[in-house]
Amino acid sequence: MSNRKPYQLVSREWKKENTEFTVNGVTIGRDLLMIAGPCAVENREQITTISEYLSKLNVKFLRGGAYKPRTSPYSFQGLKTEGLQLMREAADKFGLGVVSEILSIDKISELEEYADILQVGTRNMQNYPLLKALGKSKRPILLKRGMSSTIEEWLLAAEYIVSSGNEKVILCERGIRTFENATRNTLDIAAIPLVKSLSHLPIILDPSQGTGIRDLVAPVSSAAIAAGADGLIIEVHNQPNEALSDGDQSLYLDQLKDLLPTLKQIAHIREKRFDFESNAYQYSTQ
Ligand code: PEP
Ligand code: MN
Repeated sequence: MSNRKPYQLVSREWKKENTEFTVNGVTIGRDLLMIAGPCAVENREQITTISEYLSKLNVKFLRGGAYKPRTSPYSFQGLKTEGLQLMREAADKFGLGVVSEILSIDKISELEEYADILQVGTRNMQNYPLLKALGKSKRPILLKRGMSSTIEEWLLAAEYIVSSGNEKVILCERGIRTFENATRNTLDIAAIPLVKSLSHLPIILDPSQGTGIRDLVAPVSSAAIAAGADGLIIEVHNQPNEALSDGDQSLYLDQLKDLLPTLKQIAHIREKRFDFESNAYQYSTQ
């Protein structure tokens, strides 16, 4: 089998050094990127309470969906523009960057106005017109892995964005569909070191969509950092039991606080053990 990859610009062969870019004081690809927040923005009190808490923990990025791609049309669809405004207001008050999902081309300029990083969800990973349009954006793109996509298809999706002009792509493993239904998705931890060897792009992990189960979020987050992830995007809520979406997988705020010191310790150790050169999986140089 040929070693030639179908993607080019995102490959390690194309660029040996890790891609790094700075957003809200965090150099993504080098510093540990921690993004936390509710699945969806629900109201001012919710998003302000969570933002204040995150700022006290020194977490620099707030996540929150304003346009929600729900499986059922009868589920909460998000607060849309109002949600973005509430999130920006709370984030500015506490010095946080904003990460929010982009569902369609016609909303790109609105998302660019309110968010610092635009998230492409699992359902849109192969929405090629959207990916091409995001290639023209100045904002970094957080590209989730499609729930039925191979790593190669995922990297080709990233190639759409980069080849259209936007190099600032963050890959995000969030689990794939398998026969296993004890967890919401099957998290592919091996994808982290593998993608790091195949591509220069930063890769983070979403343990919340990845497991669907609150109690699994902490151990899986630790595993991701140990495996070489550049960061995490974690759902947290001030009242998970009242959440309008994904409450069962959202951490209580105090659980995030308890988790962070462990993650930092693992990241510290990893700096010595998980640099690219010592990675067991060697990329092809031809
Ligand atoms: C989310 O982050 O809330 C979300 C909908 O993610 P995904 O696209 O991975 O399902
Ligand atoms: Mn969610």
